[in-house]
Amino acid sequence: MDLGDAKLRPLRVLGSGSFGRVFLCMQREGRHERKVCVKRIIMRNVKNELALIKEEIYIISQLRHPNIVQFIRHFMHAGTMNIVMEYASNGTIRNVIQQTRSAGGVASARLLRYFSDMIIGLEYLHIRHVIHRDIKPENMLLDANDRVKFADFGISNIHTPLKELPWRVLGTPLYMAPEIMCGGKCDFKSDIWSLGLVLYELCIGRNPFISVLDPNARFEQVHNVVKAMSRPKLDCQLMRQRYDPVWTRICESMVVYDQNQRICLPDLFCLDPFITLTIYKQYFNYSY
Ligand code: ATP
Ligand code: MG
Repeated sequence: MDLGDAKLRPLRVLGSGSFGRVFLCMQREGRHERKVCVKRIIMRNVKNELALIKEEIYIISQLRHPNIVQFIRHFMHAGTMNIVMEYASNGTIRNVIQQTRSAGGVASARLLRYFSDMIIGLEYLHIRHVIHRDIKPENMLLDANDRVKFADFGISNIHTPLKELPWRVLGTPLYMAPEIMCGGKCDFKSDIWSLGLVLYELCIGRNPFISVLDPNARFEQVHNVVKAMSRPKLDCQLMRQRYDPVWTRICESMVVYDQNQRICLPDLFCLDPFITLTIYKQYFNYSY
């Protein structure tokens, strides 16, 4: 298949979604080649979508951080927008959840490493006033060194506005903060909510709401379940059986129904001295 760029040689399809497909490619760089990932977005309405997509691409192109999938370049071809980015070769957090579920969740040391990666990456975004908006296990990739990289923000929201999403649980936003479900404003704390649910799932192996929900549940039913289970906060006591109590505290301060009562990122950094120390050690290990 020809992607419309002579430097790119597609190897295989990595994933597909409402937007189009994601390809693993070899990119020629002088005499060398390297693996890259190309997200091909089919533009249904170029006139309306192009300006928005370009705006998002501009934002993504400005980001440079070890825990964010690195944007490389973009090009248009035959009604598609193609985003060339770093290839994260080790799958997604969804794969980790599936692989570790039967063992009772991810091992503590790995959990701490993943969580530090996640909040450091998120801090980088939030400082720049970028809200991810779609934090879920599928959108957190792992590189060859098993480090977490945030992917898939912005673009997917432009391409699939919330009102167009099918209101069924399987395709629905099980990680979506309640304020967004109610048509309220998405803010930094909406990302905190979603991240708390990812943390829960890494430990327990499933989203806390899924077992209570019918796969055909309507959107209001999803919201009612979320409200009943997370107001004032989600009960994360199950985590205590296998993990240090600090993880229960962290998760219970993140999955809080009321946005105003939900912990903010700076407070999360200093909730527990051990976590704080781990994060700061990690800061000084990076080379940008
Ligand atoms: P939408 O929500 O609009 O349908 P999507 O969530 O399906 O989009 P992505 O998350 O960007 O789209 O990509 C789909 C899948 O492709 C990911 O879950 C991941 O498995 C793979 N993928 C995407 N980007 C990369 C990358 N940079 N490196 C490796 N794999 C990737
Ligand atoms: Mg995705």
